[in-house]
Amino acid sequence: MSGSCPRCSSQRVVYCHYGKRIGGAVGTVAGGVSGFTTTTVAGAAAGARVGIAAGPTGAGGGAVLGAITGALTGCVAGLRLGKVLDEQLLSRFRCLACRAHF
Ligand SMILES: [Zn+2]
Repeated sequence: MSGSCPRCSSQRVVYCHYGKRIGGAVGTVAGGVSGFTTTTVAGAAAGARVGIAAGPTGAGGGAVLGAITGALTGCVAGLRLGKVLDEQLLSRFRCLACRAHF
């Protein structure tokens, strides 16, 4: 979707995804960290139950998987939040002619 600049009437306007970009980045990091920490505990407990040999591997693998899953979940949640930010709070369009945000 595009329109014209309310300041200089130029047709050279682009859509900005500031909120989406910020939300996605923040969500990925937050989700990765929380996934890693929560799964490390669960993974270590499960690993201890399986045995001494499988323990460290199980805990490590579980933590990595948890971090990846958490990061993906966080990224999706962040993108959703960012989309709302884009639509409701932030300036969505930028004029390439006069650099106005609107
Ligand atoms: Zn303009």
